[in-house]
Amino acid sequence: MPELPEVEALRRALDEPVSAFPIEKAGPAHIATLKTFDPPLAALEGRRLAGVERRGKRLFFPTEDGELVILLHLMSAGRLRYLAPGEKGPKSPAFRLRFQGGAELVLTEAGPKKRAGVWVLTPEAAEEEVAHLGPEALGLGAERLAEICAAESRRLHSMLRDQRVIAGIGRAWANEILHTARLSPYALSYDLADDEIGRLADAIDTELARGLELREQGAGDKRVYRIHNRLGEPCYVCGTPIARVDYEEHTVFYCPDCQTGGRILKDRRLSRLLK
Ligand SMILES: [Zn+2]
Repeated sequence: MPELPEVEALRRALDEPVSAFPIEKAGPAHIATLKTFDPPLAALEGRRLAGVERRGKRLFFPTEDGELVILLHLMSAGRLRYLAPGEKGPKSPAFRLRFQGGAELVLTEAGPKKRAGVWVLTPEAAEEEVAHLGPEALGLGAERLAEICAAESRRLHSMLRDQRVIAGIGRAWANEILHTARLSPYALSYDLADDEIGRLADAIDTELARGLELREQGAGDKRVYRIHNRLGEPCYVCGTPIARVDYEEHTVFYCPDCQTGGRILKDRRLSRLLK
């Protein structure tokens, strides 16, 4: 489930290698993965990439000549790997770039659903594609967060995951951030006091920075997540078993002692069905 820390770690790792040699062959691409047909993939061939940029959870690979951009969104199951020359890759990747000299960049996606996407765009079209995104989560700051929280009343877990409001956070990091901020996933953004907004802004930065540092070291989910997917395990702060609640289409993990004053949150999907 790549979010800002995972995608930024990937960006840092790929920035140099993808710009080392011009693209020799672009494709093949799975029909569901490639979202654009004009310009064609072949238009990339012979061009060199200028490196990798990131916006929210998306990666941008601009060409050095400034004419084209490859935009890539891993969604939940996409995986992107750089293969050194001669290194064995997957038989049928969702997308592949082969560089002169033999290195490859390959996108794979487990499962039958192909949701990850690749777009080949002009720089202007690439900008339009991300124009709806909110400000970057890392470095957002308490002042900006206070404006966001005051603008509309939202449940915090849902607000943090909304890419139009804040870009880069998904369900895993929303769980980690809210736990560090000692705030309920169901708390309403509009109701937050100044000190709570300050705690949330700090938690966004410290948690995403912690995640980025660990991911850059190659740490897996078990080491990175302390609350997410830890149902029944003791909270690392207070020892209370981590609880889980279903909310919208998501499963939320939280500590009842640290975050909700001991209250167990009710399943919102179930209560909606019973109405
Ligand atoms: Zn706790």
